[in-house]
Order: sequence, then C-alpha cells, then structure tokens
Amino acid sequence: MERCADIRRALNKKCAALGIPSNGIFELTPRCNLRCKMCYVRLDPDQMAPIGRERTAQEWLDMGRQVRDAGTVFLLLTGGEPTLRADFCEIFEGLEELGFSIAINTNGTNLTPQIRQLWHRLPPLQVNITLYGTCREDYDALCGNPGAFDAVVDALDWLKQEGILVHLNTTMVPTNVHKFLDVEQFAKERDLELRLTSYCFPPNRCDHGCFERLSPEQAAELIVQDTYYREGPEAIKAKSRDLDIAPTPRTCDLDNGEPMQCLAGRSQYWITWHGNMSPCAMIIDPSVQVHPFQDGFETAWEQLKEACRPIRLCPDCVNCPEQRSCMNCAAVTFAETGRFDGKPEYMCQLNSSYRKTLQELAKSL
Ligand code: SF4
Ligand code: SF4
Repeated sequence: MERCADIRRALNKKCAALGIPSNGIFELTPRCNLRCKMCYVRLDPDQMAPIGRERTAQEWLDMGRQVRDAGTVFLLLTGGEPTLRADFCEIFEGLEELGFSIAINTNGTNLTPQIRQLWHRLPPLQVNITLYGTCREDYDALCGNPGAFDAVVDALDWLKQEGILVHLNTTMVPTNVHKFLDVEQFAKERDLELRLTSYCFPPNRCDHGCFERLSPEQAAELIVQDTYYREGPEAIKAKSRDLDIAPTPRTCDLDNGEPMQCLAGRSQYWITWHGNMSPCAMIIDPSVQVHPFQDGFETAWEQLKEACRPIRLCPDCVNCPEQRSCMNCAAVTFAETGRFDGKPEYMCQLNSSYRKTLQELAKSL
C-alpha cells in the first residue's frame, strides 16, 4: 500500500507539471450528524438554503464523466458526512463504474446496511475515518453525540472483516487533547495507521458559535509527542538535527513572494456541495472560485489554473530561516489572514514552539 501511495504521489506531481487534473475532491454535502467544536464546514439545512443547493446524484455523475475525460484518476468523496445523503450509494456506484479510484472521508457513524452491501461488492480504495476519542463520553463532549462512538467501533470492525483499507485520523482540540495517548493506543491495538491533526483551520466556511482549537504551543507539543510515540527517540533526534539544515535558496522574485508549491490548482481541485470549484477546501477567495456545473469542467479547470498562477505567498516566508520545519501552505495563509501574501502568526508561533520542544526533547534523550 505504501508503494501505491508513492505511485499516486508521483503521478499527481507529474500531472501538476502538465496541468492535468488527476486528483479531485467531491464535497457531497455540508450536513453532518455530529457537531464537532472544531468543524469548519458543517451546515444545517436552514444555513445551507441561502448559500445554495446540494447537487443531485445525476449532476455528480455527469461531473464524474467530465472529470474522467479531463484526466482525473483519484476521487475523494467527502462532506460534512457524505454517507448521510440518501443517494450516496447511487453516487458511489456510478462513480465506481466510471473507473475512478475512490477514497471516502467519513466519521464512520453511518455505515448503513445498504452501504455495507455495496462496499462488500464494490469496496472503495480507502476509507478515512476520523476518531475523536475512545469512549461515549468523549464523543458526547466534543461531537454532541455519545452513541456515535459505538457506531464507529462497529464500522471499524466491519471494515476490517471486509479487508477494506482504513486510515484513522484524529483531530485534537482542548476538549479531547487529554485523550491523545488513548487514541494512539486504540489505533495501535487495531493495527491502524493514525494521522494526527493538531492544527485546525479557523471556521471560515461556517459559524457554529462554539469553535475551539489548541494554542500554537499546545499544537506543537502534541506533534512532537506524536512523533515520539509512533517513531521513537531516534526520529526525534534525527528531526532535531534536520532543523539545523539551511533552507534551500529560492530563485523567485523575493520581493513578490513565491507561487503556490502544492498540487492545488495544478493537478488537484475541490468541488463544493453547492458547485463551486477551488484549489482546495480552505481557499474560498472569489478570485479563485470557478463554476464547473455551469461552465463545464474543462473550461472551469482552465480558469482555475489561470486564477492560481499569479498567486504569490508571503515574502517573509520565502526568506524565513525556519521555513524547512514550517507546515504553512497557501490554504493556511489564506484561512489565517484572509490573503495569500499575509503572514500567518499562528503558524509562526507553532513552528517556533515545535522547534524548541523538539530540540529540548532531543537533548534530554
Ligand atoms: S464529523 Fe467532520 S464534518 Fe461532521 S461535524 Fe465533525 S468535523 Fe464537521
Ligand atoms: S509562516 Fe512564519 S515560520 Fe512559517 S515560513 Fe512563514 S514566516 Fe516562517
């Protein structure tokens, strides 16, 4: 599977150089049966109405044909909670028939008998489940739904029995951060890869009034703790040594910043539940939003590439001596500052704390 991921990365990179949209994300709905405190996308139906409408199954399948013809190989179906759609099976099966490699982002609480029957017959390439804790109380405190925990465990057991590849994600915020090691242990016992998210985007796409996230210092400490737990002391020492390596000199016009470095807008696109297409979920600037349902995918993709090309990121980042260890990207910059060339102070603080915590731990080992 590691090999598959490598091939996929290489293909997406090659496609970025050629401007081929190999990697697509279909955000089928913003609805969700959980109410996580750090969510940046969830909307209730009454909040959706003034923004737009969910696209129908037929519209997604027609979009599937268009993106396949344009070169898309990998599709991620996400939400909200995509399985809440009554026509989720119809969409999934139709897209499978079009030949995509499909991964699903889900909270794992709604694997209905219909979905299980379908996936038994047509398994997805990968199911990404986000785990928010290890008991009913954790799910009650963070997601407002205690019973969800039992449903997730049941889903994980079933997926394992079916031999479907599962990746576990976890997002840590003040409410559940004390359970981090329990979540790590939960994943280890089930032999599942766990990916930690300790940085949460500000909720620019929704307003649910109870948003929380870790301080930059807490987020940094957790990243180091995660590395130590999963990779051990040698990884801490190696990463600490890496901090001393000088950043690669940049050849761009330093006064104007550098272009986006990731695949977004070069081989990757994100289509929202109501039909806007942008380079990624958190880049919601109207200057880089295009309309594939209205204008056709091919036209919209050309417009998107064109819109992304002039973007220049923060000049301070280009010259930053600590850039090598920083997790900043165009989406973070935009979400934190509302502009592409802003300096995201949260990320600067996170990076600085990360370096300090890592070095201190390495010295003590
Ligand atoms: S499960 Fe995901 S989409 Fe649903 S509320 Fe939580 S973070 Fe948002
Ligand atoms: S976000 Fe801050 S720490 Fe990161 S590269 Fe930019 S200036 Fe440096």
